[in-house]
Amino acid sequence: MAHSVTLIPGDGIGPELAEATRRVLDSTGVAFEWDVQHAGADVMDQHGGNPLPDHVLESIARNGVALKGPITTPVGTGFRSVNVTLRKTLDLYGQVRPCKSYQGVRSRYEDVDLIVVREATEDLYAGIEFEEGSEDAHELIDWIERHGGHVRADAGISIKPISIAGTRRIVEFAFDYARRNGRRKVTAVHKANIMKFSDGLWLRVAREVAEENADVEFEDRIVDNLCMQLVQRPDEYDVLVLPNLYGDIVSDLCAGLVGGLGLAPGANFGTKAAVFEPTHGSAPKYAGQNKANPMAMMLSGVLMLRHLEETDAADRVERAIADVVAEGESVTYDMKPSRDDPTAVGTSDVADAIIDKLGVTV
Ligand code: NAD
Repeated sequence: MAHSVTLIPGDGIGPELAEATRRVLDSTGVAFEWDVQHAGADVMDQHGGNPLPDHVLESIARNGVALKGPITTPVGTGFRSVNVTLRKTLDLYGQVRPCKSYQGVRSRYEDVDLIVVREATEDLYAGIEFEEGSEDAHELIDWIERHGGHVRADAGISIKPISIAGTRRIVEFAFDYARRNGRRKVTAVHKANIMKFSDGLWLRVAREVAEENADVEFEDRIVDNLCMQLVQRPDEYDVLVLPNLYGDIVSDLCAGLVGGLGLAPGANFGTKAAVFEPTHGSAPKYAGQNKANPMAMMLSGVLMLRHLEETDAADRVERAIADVVAEGESVTYDMKPSRDDPTAVGTSDVADAIIDKLGVTV
């Protein structure tokens, strides 16, 4: 039976990457029924100014699985991030970003194999913000002053909620993930020494969950110390579990350890659905140029195949990508020794090379 999957091409470089990825996945022999849905700035005018129309969410909820390209978020003004809204609406609380070294990628390290598990519904990304100068901001500042705190009158405010329930489920998710994937250790990351009631709660709950999962090793690290240690000795870590903001930043750091965003896939798991998407954004400057690297989106497709229990196809696609990377020929500019290397190939050529490796003519 074909797998029904929502395919959101996204914008910027997204549509090219989605097309290249779809071709590779279709050539595994696994049958897909692609339910193509559009979201983002390009379609908002057709939907009353809504960049994430209800029918897109309904499609993901119906299929339970989506593969998504990046979607641009206007900086500072305009609509809220479609990506954040999607995660919140579908309660996609567990984001997994594997960072793994592939032979042939220029990087400072050779054997990095880290899993970043990021809580994706709470923390400073909860979207509870009060604009500087607004009535609400003044009211909140007055309230804080009356309760012994001090905030400058011209401040904008973002709230950082971290709950027991939200922490418990993501740390349990990290332990489950570690166990199912044969990993040895979970590290909970925090800044509990400074933010005692949010990160302090996170650490306390993480320790409780660790006691219930004593078969997997557990430790905690303060986030700044973790960043330094990751750069010095990434092999000391295995599965990292982090609140939303640290998770976002540290997963980019880990992507850097394995040679950049070009090979950094991601998955968002929730109670209703799973959405697979690369860690990188929409890179608008390369949009429509057949230039961007599709491998992070393809590796997100590999994570999707594993989720669909198509393990053999997942192994074959991952091996085909690894072979193309190791040969170093049919790769995009970002994987060449210099950024202006004339032998760099385009997005669609990478897909062709991977399909060749899969041994299927399409
Ligand atoms: P970005 O990831 O788009 O780009 C960072 C750098 O990496 C740029 O130099 C870019 O050209 C390069 N790059 C990214 N992906 C690449 C690829 N596949 N191949 C080759 N080079 C690649 O990050 P940004 O510039 O901070 O963000 C651009 C837009 O993407 C913003 O609107 C941001 O909000 C959005 N974004 C979306 C998502 C998502 O949809 N999940 C994630 C991150 C950023």
